[in-house]
Amino acid sequence: MPGAGRRRAVKPGRSRSRRLPSLPTVAGLVALVVAGAGAITVGPQQSADSAIALSSQGRELSGTDAVGYTGGPRARALSRDSEREALQDAADAKLQKAAEEQAAERNAELKSLGKAAEARAGQIAKNQWHLPTEGYHLTARFGMAGGLWSSNHTGLDFAAPSGTPIFAVANGVITETGYAGSYGNRTVETLPDGTELWYAHQSAIGVQVGDQVIGGQQIGNVGSTGNTTGPHVHLEVRPGGGDPVDPYQALVFHGVTP
Ligand SMILES: [Zn+2]
Repeated sequence: MPGAGRRRAVKPGRSRSRRLPSLPTVAGLVALVVAGAGAITVGPQQSADSAIALSSQGRELSGTDAVGYTGGPRARALSRDSEREALQDAADAKLQKAAEEQAAERNAELKSLGKAAEARAGQIAKNQWHLPTEGYHLTARFGMAGGLWSSNHTGLDFAAPSGTPIFAVANGVITETGYAGSYGNRTVETLPDGTELWYAHQSAIGVQVGDQVIGGQQIGNVGSTGNTTGPHVHLEVRPGGGDPVDPYQALVFHGVTP
């Protein structure tokens, strides 16, 4: 049986030689014609020859029948089948496309998540230092002498409105929090190399001893607790927990200029 598509491509009534009807149809018609003809014109001995001669006539008839056949119920059924197949193919293609689009979307999402994680991992690995607050101005430098301090100034003062966030300068762990005399509310953060960072005069402390913090993370708020004349964060840098060094130089050394 030829494919439905090929069959439909043939125009009815034309190219009869190319459109061969199915064998049962031919045989059936030949038998019918032979039976009819035999009964009228030929004797029993000639019936075989007549059948051959008449077979072409049978083919003619079956050809005619085949013309009607293409438009018949079966052909329509075949046509419906191929339409159904075409619709199914279209539906499959649509599903396939949707699945592909969904996969692409998911990939983009994962890529974006991966990039964010990568950026954070890079930030932690690089351990970029950060300024301890924002919207500040420097009021007292390291080593300055003044009536306010018993010795020379041991830190760097960032003056900012009370309540301004204080950020961890680098990655580290919180090793001390609480009120500390002239320092007021103070947080001590210890870096992996043993350096201590002191944040003093806070109005509020936002971390606890043992907290792991990342540079740039808020750890408290600017205040004027302890020995101060106005709200500011006093930053000290003490390598190995020993004597303080100039925080300005330490910040510049680590890539940030206050
Ligand atoms: Zn100070």
